[in-house]
Amino acid sequence: MEAQRIRIKFYKNKLTCCNHKDCNWLNSRNFRIRTVEEYAKEKLISPRLEECLRRRSLVIPQGPSEIMDVFSTMCNIRCRFCCLSDQPRKHNPQLEKCMREYATGNAANVRKVSFCGGEPLVQRYVIEMIKTVSKTNPDVDFYITTNLTHLTPEVRALFETINLNPIHISLNAASPEGYEAVVSGAKWETVFDNFLFIADLHRRRPEHCVIDASMVVTNRNYRDIVPYAKIGVENNVRRIEYYPMIETGWNRDIQLNSEEKAAVREILKDPIFEEYKDRIEIGPLKSSVKSASN
Ligand code: SF4
Repeated sequence: MEAQRIRIKFYKNKLTCCNHKDCNWLNSRNFRIRTVEEYAKEKLISPRLEECLRRRSLVIPQGPSEIMDVFSTMCNIRCRFCCLSDQPRKHNPQLEKCMREYATGNAANVRKVSFCGGEPLVQRYVIEMIKTVSKTNPDVDFYITTNLTHLTPEVRALFETINLNPIHISLNAASPEGYEAVVSGAKWETVFDNFLFIADLHRRRPEHCVIDASMVVTNRNYRDIVPYAKIGVENNVRRIEYYPMIETGWNRDIQLNSEEKAAVREILKDPIFEEYKDRIEIGPLKSSVKSASN
């Protein structure tokens, strides 16, 4: 009950229940993303949890039904707003081993496999895992977050046969200028062509390809906010979310200044946001550009 109460307050932007410690740390000079090596040292089940399971005589006979990789930092491009951009892009063999053991060793029981990246589709083992799991269990749902840079013919062919539920795309722009201002290492023409492939896949296999999209708003791409919504709506994107950047010391050059925040406030009055309010989430962005007088 208490957790639910806090959750409701949080979504209403009432942060009185919040523990500010983490936010303060995130915004402080001491903030640093943990490295792949640091994550690799962590065991999935700590000795304490193991002991607890033993004492309670708990067994998990069929293994987990949902497997999620949120640790991978492997990515093939650099987004200016991304805190992973300066991290080492090394493959993490321990993570691969865990994912393979949990998902492919337990494929009949697995209902959902999530890859949140970095960019999962550049990792060979991700493609192999999707093939193995979907062969054993064709009903499994794959949640894939992708920057749409790496839809090779092999990946496209694979996507024709699996449940993408959902595929979460992060384009972060709706024009070549907007894209190249926030991303380096990829071309707008390529990612937009890949987006059109996914949109077409949805048209042909609507139950097997659900599309979600997000955009991180910076001072380089905020003019694309409305065009991004239009592209999403026209192509049956189920949900479009706009995120403000976490403003920290290292990304000052792309933060919105007060005039740009005022411009974003005007942009968010566009009728498209009211018309599609069930599909487009602007709440967090709107809060972040509130003027001091509001
Ligand atoms: S694609 Fe995702 S993980 Fe890669 S740099 Fe951009 S935001 Fe970061």
